[in-house]
Amino acid sequence: FSPLIRKLIEVRTILKLVDDRHQMHLPSIVVIGSQSSGKSSVLEAIVGREFLPKGSNMVTRRPIELTLIHSPELAEEYGILPQVSQEKIFDFEDIKNHLSRLNQAVPEDQCVSKDPIELKIYSPSVPDLTLIDLPGYIQVNTKDQPRYLKTRIAELCERYITQNNIILAVCPADVDLANSEALLASRRVDPKGARTIGVITKLDLVDPLSGAAILDNRDYPLQLGYIGVVCRKNKFGNDITLSHPAYQGRGLKVGVSTLQQTLIQTLESRLASSLHQLDDALQSELEEVRYQYKVEYNDRLITAESYVADSMDILKHRFKDFASSFGKAQISDQIRATLEQKVLDVCARLYWADADILQLNYDALNNPHWQGKLDQAAALLTKCGVGKLSTQLVVDTLMYHMDKISRAEPFVHHEDMRRKIIQFSNDIVKQKLKSTVDQVENTIKPYKFAVDCNSEEWSDARKRTIALLKEEITLCDASLSKIKQAVGTSNLRKAINHMEAESPADQGVHFSPKLLAKAREAAWLRERRKTLRYRLAMSKSRTCKSSSNKTICPEIYLNMVSSKLTTTAVMFIKVELLDEVFFQFPREVDTHLLYYGLTKEQIAQFARQNPKIARQLQLKDARTHLEHAASKLSYLIREMDS
Ligand code: GDP
Repeated sequence: FSPLIRKLIEVRTILKLVDDRHQMHLPSIVVIGSQSSGKSSVLEAIVGREFLPKGSNMVTRRPIELTLIHSPELAEEYGILPQVSQEKIFDFEDIKNHLSRLNQAVPEDQCVSKDPIELKIYSPSVPDLTLIDLPGYIQVNTKDQPRYLKTRIAELCERYITQNNIILAVCPADVDLANSEALLASRRVDPKGARTIGVITKLDLVDPLSGAAILDNRDYPLQLGYIGVVCRKNKFGNDITLSHPAYQGRGLKVGVSTLQQTLIQTLESRLASSLHQLDDALQSELEEVRYQYKVEYNDRLITAESYVADSMDILKHRFKDFASSFGKAQISDQIRATLEQKVLDVCARLYWADADILQLNYDALNNPHWQGKLDQAAALLTKCGVGKLSTQLVVDTLMYHMDKISRAEPFVHHEDMRRKIIQFSNDIVKQKLKSTVDQVENTIKPYKFAVDCNSEEWSDARKRTIALLKEEITLCDASLSKIKQAVGTSNLRKAINHMEAESPADQGVHFSPKLLAKAREAAWLRERRKTLRYRLAMSKSRTCKSSSNKTICPEIYLNMVSSKLTTTAVMFIKVELLDEVFFQFPREVDTHLLYYGLTKEQIAQFARQNPKIARQLQLKDARTHLEHAASKLSYLIREMDS
């Protein structure tokens, strides 16, 4: 058995790992012949086992690429069908069934497919060879076969024999060589017969003298000659037919082992002569790939693992950036704004809608009605669920940013990973949510009974109140002018006058319900604006400068309370929630995604999801494989040359 062929098959196997573009062609042995010429029998004789599906009805519909691997150490031979699984198949009957199934997978209307089936056979008794079995030529179309089938099969065979392969032209002895489709086809692509071996089957069916005449190679000469075999079922080559004197001692080649020897020698000499050519092709391919990798990726080293690590680093960095920009000041602003809105709601409900609101002045300072109202208002504010409200607000903002962070490059390519990130961020936050809400509620409890403040806090609240009231007035103005614009100033005035008249029906003018509704809204807004202006003036007044007059400055008082609530909430949310999340997140990234969270396959899959990285990895792999193949090849050449 030939070490050269074996090593070259190794090189080819490596090259097969690189994509088709880099596919390098090593000569194989292609078996062609008409249907029933004995092709399958010859192949099985070479392997020494039966494993090909047989039958009269087009059993071979796809090329079978058969790689024989000489394995002297094996106790039991086996096959592998890489397209099915990497499992070793010891029962050759199973191989046959798989092959049948793979052949049947070709749709009936296509009849043949150029998509090859790969089969590897490991055995101590096979030589290292690659053989390709092809569908048999059709000589006569039968009724149930489509017309184009004949051409289809011929074209398929053509693809394989035009390459630099060795052609095994199988011709049955009982059919005139002149009619052999196999020889006809091979002559078209190899006119001198330099790479065609004629295999004459079924010698037992003709008398030995005419058999010997065929093998004599006179009528249709081939440089590599003819070899005669007999492969009746379960009898590989040891048929007594071949021991007839007509076949002996005249330099005629007969028998399966002669066929094997010839195949190996022929393949070897062709391979040896093509080694340098192959090496050149491989080197230039390698150069090209190296150049591409340098230009496109600046030779930067990358693995699926390093890509995952880099991606997680990016994630952590981005998170860190966010964490450092999202502190007390930011959550303070958010919570304050929300609570101020609550203050306005409470004021509107308890004060501005009060019919006596214009009497809330210096005279009301000790009025129990207004004093009670202030307590009621403060209670409404402190019991509005500040803990839940403020914590949820921060959580929402946090998750909004997590979403944003997990959406940016490179995670746009990794939707499943993105979901994972959001999932565990959510989990971290959820763990802290309830205890934070409780903590905040607990610490604001005292404010539910009494809130003291210093003059600075009061004057702060007063400033903010003035601004807020001004804003409210502006909003009223805006709503009013919107209504005026919609219905017209004079219409509006008429409608309001009509509404405010003692007995509206007397005026005899008709107003639409829609206009009347607008008029009511406008009247209300005017009232509200009046109230707000009055409250603004009051808040600005000297009286409201002092917190001891809080009864008549409820807006300022409530804003002061809201400010205290904010400060307290912020303090606890920061410590209980934010700091915890900021601490845990990068650690969770490590546990979930980096060190323990991903299997090797998941890492590879992750990297492939990013098309750019997938391409880079592919190119890098191609380079590695080509380098591996090239080094094996040059070693081989050096060995041969010396
Ligand atoms: P394929 O269609 O070209 O693959 O041909 P097969 O190998 O299936 O053989 C067709 C038929 O010829 C089968 O019934 C084989 O048993 C028979 N056959 C093959 N080789 C020989 C041979 O050397 N002698 C005889 N008598 N029959 C053979």
